[in-house]
Amino acid sequence: MVLLDGKKLADEIKLEISREVKQLQAAGAKTPHLATILVGNDGGSLTYVGKKMESCKEVGFNSTLLRFEDTITESDLLAEVKKLNNNPDIDGFIVQFPLPKHINPNKVIMTIDPKKDVDGFHPMNVGRMALGLPAYVSATPLGITKILERYNITTEGKHCVVIGRSNIVGRPISILLSGQAKTGNATVTVCHSKTKNIKEIALTADIIIAAMGRPGFVTADMVKEGAVVIDVGTTRVTDASAKKGWRLKGDVKYDEVASKCSAITPVPGGVGPMTVVSLLLNTLKAAKNEIE
Ligand code: NAP
Repeated sequence: MVLLDGKKLADEIKLEISREVKQLQAAGAKTPHLATILVGNDGGSLTYVGKKMESCKEVGFNSTLLRFEDTITESDLLAEVKKLNNNPDIDGFIVQFPLPKHINPNKVIMTIDPKKDVDGFHPMNVGRMALGLPAYVSATPLGITKILERYNITTEGKHCVVIGRSNIVGRPISILLSGQAKTGNATVTVCHSKTKNIKEIALTADIIIAAMGRPGFVTADMVKEGAVVIDVGTTRVTDASAKKGWRLKGDVKYDEVASKCSAITPVPGGVGPMTVVSLLLNTLKAAKNEIE
């Protein structure tokens, strides 16, 4: 069984990015600059944003954090997004979700300039990705394709079962895997909460992508011998024995599933670090104006 070590892979890619940043700087180009809008004080969001900013520093990017109270009005937040759209020093930016209930996330996404939309959430980028055109692909699906690519896991002709159909993970990864790019040409089945017989469907999978947020949902009796399992799930589960009082749990019962797999990602240390590094890859693309 191969452990798909997202942390190690992310460190390797960060090194490659930092080399490229130095080359860009030596050639007189500006330093890539990522901005993040964070509204409120959600613990998870603070952690994710902290990791993203730390990673920017590691690779030599500039990063800016713009924090707002959760009382900010929707129109004021949209005005802040527009300011970033028009700021030539910012190559790309993200708005950390979730947002307070009084702010419509779709309005925010639609206001982001697609050329600076390094989270790949704008319909323009989603559409381009679906058409196989150059696009900012959202970070988690991009990270999954990088894991498959770098570990030489071929997808062509394979049956991939994606469990979860969210706009940020399940839906885009299913589109990518069934597309014609390198980590594509697979036959893809998308499962969700209304799917009947998930176990039977999962048992036919060469590759399972579990993206539900249901800790331990995928058990050994759902996995074919030799399958590849990518666990996207990250749920904080209360655990008094853990330092923080909780542990991050994936959607896969790793202990019983791992021995049946040809390859599997751990949680933590699998898809998570690759998501962060994919955001850096998108920011580098933005700085190089690679998406027309
Ligand atoms: P989400 O928006 O809540 O979507 C969850 C999906 O799972 C939905 O499509 C839902 O079906 C489906 N689902 C839920 N329960 C199910 C069940 N019992 N059987 C079958 N399908 C079920 O979640 P998300 O944003 O995609 O995130 C999924 C997980 O990935 C979460 O744990 C999240 O924290 C994690 N995540 C991790 C990273 C990372 O970097 N590692 C990044 C993003 C997300 P319906 O559509 O029918 O409701």
